[in-house]
Amino acid sequence: MEITTLQEWLGTDKPLIVSGPCSAESYEQVMQTAIALRKIPEVRIFRSGVWKPRTRPKGFEGVGSEALLWLKDVKKETGLLTAVEVACAQHVEEALNSGIDVVWLGARTVVNPFLVNDICNALKGTDIPVLVKNPLHPDVNLWIGAMERLNDVGITKIVAVHRGFFYYKNTEYRNQPMWEVVIELKRQFPNLPIINDPSHIGGKRSVLLQIAQKAFDLELSGLMVETHINPDEALTDSQQQITPEQLADMLSKIVYRKGFSEDKTDNKMELLRQEIDKLDAELLDILNKRFNIIKEIGVYKKNNNITILQIERWREMFKNRLDIAQNMGYDSAFIKSLINIIHEESIRLQEDIFNDEDI
Ligand code: PEP
Ligand code: MN
Repeated sequence: MEITTLQEWLGTDKPLIVSGPCSAESYEQVMQTAIALRKIPEVRIFRSGVWKPRTRPKGFEGVGSEALLWLKDVKKETGLLTAVEVACAQHVEEALNSGIDVVWLGARTVVNPFLVNDICNALKGTDIPVLVKNPLHPDVNLWIGAMERLNDVGITKIVAVHRGFFYYKNTEYRNQPMWEVVIELKRQFPNLPIINDPSHIGGKRSVLLQIAQKAFDLELSGLMVETHINPDEALTDSQQQITPEQLADMLSKIVYRKGFSEDKTDNKMELLRQEIDKLDAELLDILNKRFNIIKEIGVYKKNNNITILQIERWREMFKNRLDIAQNMGYDSAFIKSLINIIHEESIRLQEDIFNDEDI
C-alpha cells in the first residue's frame, strides 16, 4: 500500500487525536462541543456521526445532511478539520460537496466489500483522508482489503482505527480489543498509521484511560474519542462519551513511555505475553479435560465399590511423571509439588462424587 504518513499529511509526528460526539444532535451541541475541544491543542480533527444506522430501527438515526452545514460552521469557527462517517456513495458525495475534510468508514461498512467498492468509486479522483475502522469481526484481511481498495482508487492518506471486535460472550468491554490483530496489521504495514478508539472498545467511561494507555504502549499513533458537551443526555452511546474537559484530563494522564522511537522492546514483550496468555489458556483447558476424566473414573469407582485411592497405581504414576519431567529438565522439587497438588484435587473431586447422593 502507498501510504502518506501523518508527518507528510499533518506536518507533525505528534499523536493524532480525533474527537467529537458520537452523533450530531443539534447545532448548539455540535458547536459547543467543538469550541470546548478547540482548547485542547492535541485535538486536530472534529468527528461527528451524521447518519447513524442503529442495530434496531426507530432509535435516533442521526439528523442527516443538515448537520453537514453545522460542521461547515465548526470549521469556520474553530479551524478544526471535520470528519463524518460515510456508509454509501451518496454520503460521500454529500460530504465532499459540503467541504468535509476527512471521512471514515465504520465497522459495519468495512465488513462488506460491495459497499466499500461503492464508496471507493465515489471517492475516486479526490485525495481526502480516510479513516478505516476495523471490521466487526477480527479478520485482519477484511480490514486490509478495505484499505487496499481505497489505495486502488488513489487514496493514500489512510488511517486504520482500532475500535475492538464483536465477541460472543459478555466481557468487561463492549468490544474486545484483540491487540494481536493490530500488531499483525502493524507488522505487515509498518508505515500505516493506526489509532485507537477506546470509546467503542470500552463502552463506558471508566475504562477509557486504561485502553488508551495500552494503545500508546503498543506505539499506536493516536486516538479517536467520543466527546459530548453533556454526555449523560447524549442520544447515542451516552455511557461512553465524555466531556471535552474529561478528555483533556485523560490526555494529561497518558504516559508516553518511549515516544515514537524505533525501540520495539514494548512490542516484543507484548507478543511474548500474548504467547503466555495462549499457553496458560491451553494449560487450563488440558487440566480441565483431565479433571473431567477423573470425575468419570470417580463415578465408575463408586458404582463398582472401588476405593478412591489405589496406592500402587499412585506410586507408579508419581514415578512415571517424575521421570518424564526430569528428562525434560524440570526442577524435581517443583514437579513433585505440582504432581501432588493435581493429585490432591483429583481426590477431592472423587470424594465429592462419592458424597453426592444423586450418583
Ligand atoms: C462511531 O464511531 O460512532 C461508530 C458508529 O463506530 P463503529 O463503526 O466503530 O461502531
Ligand atoms: Mn458511537
